[in-house]
Amino acid sequence: MNDLKGKVAIVTGAGSGIGRAIAELYAARGASVVVSDVDEVGGKETLRMIEEAGGSAVFRAADVSKPHENEALAESAMAHFGRLDIACNNAGIGGAINPTADYGIDDWQHVIDVNLSGVFYGMKYQIPRMLKSGGGSIVNIASILGAVGFANSPAYTASKHGLVGLTKATALEYGRHGIRVNVVGPAFIDTPLLKNLDQEMLDGLATLHPIGRIGTPLEVAELVAFLSSDAASFATGAYYPIDGGYLAQ
Ligand code: NAP
Repeated sequence: MNDLKGKVAIVTGAGSGIGRAIAELYAARGASVVVSDVDEVGGKETLRMIEEAGGSAVFRAADVSKPHENEALAESAMAHFGRLDIACNNAGIGGAINPTADYGIDDWQHVIDVNLSGVFYGMKYQIPRMLKSGGGSIVNIASILGAVGFANSPAYTASKHGLVGLTKATALEYGRHGIRVNVVGPAFIDTPLLKNLDQEMLDGLATLHPIGRIGTPLEVAELVAFLSSDAASFATGAYYPIDGGYLAQ
């Protein structure tokens, strides 16, 4: 399949996990990809993997919680490839685990800065460049915790619920201008984000999914690649779980 041929895409948090799988799949389907991450080692490894597979990509370091770094990232797509058609705002952190009354104020702010404000900054600078390119598709990565709560993760849950609302508002604003904006809600996915959990906790998480296991980054990337492509031309303003049945319970 070559359905992203000729398109230029940005993926944030592409140095690991879900973002890496999305960047690899975009490139495999023909897009030129701006691989971005705050982690230069991981980001450059993703770039190497894409190039080794014959894809087209560049790496650009950016911390999504810093507005000007988002602007520079969006501009780098124009500078390298001359246009911007697709953005996957994927970078995110799990944050501290604590009940609300014990949640540190700095911990709260950090999660909101990366997971919610980071996507606002991203879209703020991506949209004008997509408009110049004749339209585009933005896919934001939330979580099942954009739809339901999770005890001891108040900041993460709030940031991902906020991201669902932000996506809907932005979709309403730019639908007539040829930009679609959607948000994907993965359940638990096997990535380094879960590295602090021991095997017993991971086994417990698997049982929360009616399909009987946690997901893989590629299973999320397949949905994201579809929403990013012209095959999803009537899809905008929507939240798409990819969750092994988690939210059906
Ligand atoms: P991951 O493996 O930890 O990858 C996230 C990447 O984003 C890492 O390379 C990380 O760098 C980078 N990053 C962190 N803060 C950043 C910042 N301020 N600016 C730019 N990059 C930053 O996590 P993942 O599981 O692939 O998660 C990707 C997205 O999916 C996140 O938005 C997450 O909330 C969401 N998600 C994940 C799961 C899951 O179970 N894994 C479930 C639902 C939703 P460092 O390693 O240096 O921090």
